[in-house]
Amino acid sequence: MLRPYRLERELDRAVAQWLAWLPRWDPAAARRRDGLCPACPSWADELDLTDVPHGALHALVTALDGLVTEHVRRSLALQPFLGQDDVDGLRSRLRSDAAACVGRQRSQILRTIDAYVEPRVQELADRLLQELCGE
Ligand SMILES: [Zn+2]
Repeated sequence: MLRPYRLERELDRAVAQWLAWLPRWDPAAARRRDGLCPACPSWADELDLTDVPHGALHALVTALDGLVTEHVRRSLALQPFLGQDDVDGLRSRLRSDAAACVGRQRSQILRTIDAYVEPRVQELADRLLQELCGE
């Protein structure tokens, strides 16, 4: 069985790296996606970060999803005969644990979003409005 503190430590590191990256996030540099991201909507719901722009949130979700997947793989290496229902339940539990772990840092996450993400979104919206209105 995996030691849960290891996942928590890795999640804490992923959140810290994301928070350190957010000041450099630029909505104008975001790549255009052709389809809906398969990972972010459900994670955004689970993390209660549905108001965060996709480009900013996607980096965190990619890291969290990767860590959960890695831990599922490690568990399967230790218990190779788990059935698919057990694997799905294991993944679901790890994901909920990951969301709860990230949730403990919610106040810091919201402060960082208010400080760096919201101003950039407002700046971009103002620039677009100026272009549309010709002011
Ligand atoms: Zn995404």
